[in-house]
Amino acid sequence: MTHRFFVPQHQISRTEVTITGGDAYQIKNVLRLLPGDEIEVLDGTGKVYTARINSVAKEEVLCDQITSMSMASEPKIKITLLQSIPRESKMDLIIQKCTELGVARIIPAISERTIVKLEGKTEKRLERWEKIAKEAAEQSARGVIPTIDRAIQFKDAVKEAENHDLSLIPWEMEEKTSLKEVLKKNKKAKTILIAIGPEGGFSKGEIEIAKKAGLKPVSLGKRILRTETAGMAVLSMLNYEFEMP
Ligand code: SAH
Repeated sequence: MTHRFFVPQHQISRTEVTITGGDAYQIKNVLRLLPGDEIEVLDGTGKVYTARINSVAKEEVLCDQITSMSMASEPKIKITLLQSIPRESKMDLIIQKCTELGVARIIPAISERTIVKLEGKTEKRLERWEKIAKEAAEQSARGVIPTIDRAIQFKDAVKEAENHDLSLIPWEMEEKTSLKEVLKKNKKAKTILIAIGPEGGFSKGEIEIAKKAGLKPVSLGKRILRTETAGMAVLSMLNYEFEMP
């Protein structure tokens, strides 16, 4: 497999690519790539370049740019996951898997039943989540790294519904409307927001707040999914509905 790296755009010129920081370390000391080896470079906007390593120094790897083309792997619809922050490492798993499944943006939300305390750790947590997203995007051959927002309160996060064609809140108490039905009626949606509750679920009050903000409660089926399963399940269903030929 060709190794892939996201590189800031200003480090990519028409003929050369400069790789620095953790990726340069990775190339030199972990993968032990050598001059002449080929890698793929992604600029984060959906373009991919094939590059040949020219020199490997401690903090900088220089490459010749050979070809560039557009990645065809980005989903046609943009999905935002509003994820109520669960305990410990579950959020890491959610970010990794949802990136593989094509999520465009993740909004970590502090809901009524969110247990973790982020105080003082917000910045560190965000950096960690961004790193996980970058690595998962490289691994899964995406052209774009999903954006991860700074954690915000649930009641503020639902206001994002305004910026989406379709906004849904999967709720295990919803008996009438299924995700399938809603998708059938919204085939033209290009931007979709999905709000998932934490381990303990959403309170009735939160469902009301969400409805007022324009989110529609939907059922994902008869079984109760864990918070980390719910987002992945919805993304898979959306991919099946919108992506599959
Ligand atoms: N309150 C529940 C579990 C919450 S599951 C309890 O403790 O029994 C975590 C989140 O996953 C929920 O808030 C909801 O957004 C989503 N979810 C899980 N199963 C679901 C289903 N069958 N239908 C719709 N949403 C579901």
